[in-house]
Amino acid sequence: MSDKKETTFSDDKTTLSDVQTFLYEFNKKRGWHKGAGMNPKNLASAISVEASELQEHFQWISTDEAEELKDAKNRDKQIDYELVDVVIYCLICARSLNIDLAKTLQEKMEINKNRFKVTKRDGKKE
Ligand SMILES: [Mg+2]
Repeated sequence: MSDKKETTFSDDKTTLSDVQTFLYEFNKKRGWHKGAGMNPKNLASAISVEASELQEHFQWISTDEAEELKDAKNRDKQIDYELVDVVIYCLICARSLNIDLAKTLQEKMEINKNRFKVTKRDGKKE
């Protein structure tokens, strides 16, 4: 995909691989795809920095005020963009480390399933 071509991504039509390829091409055109900048150490740091930028939006508000932000009409678009910044760096980092995200997510959830067993009481929670 080129920068000139209009791309329309959506969660139900776009794969992780589509987005990773788009990000790779975006970075390649700018010479950011190789060299010291995009190594796993720096990318892990970038994930943390972007997560902090996201958290900054919630820092001094109450839990109730944060719940109200679930309604997209009331939400500062910058919150969405900070979350996407985290995702972007996660996708680039995964590609940098040759991690198959979907496969690894499935493996990790299997670990979580065994770690956090569902109890009879859990089924009664809302
Ligand atoms: Mg940011």
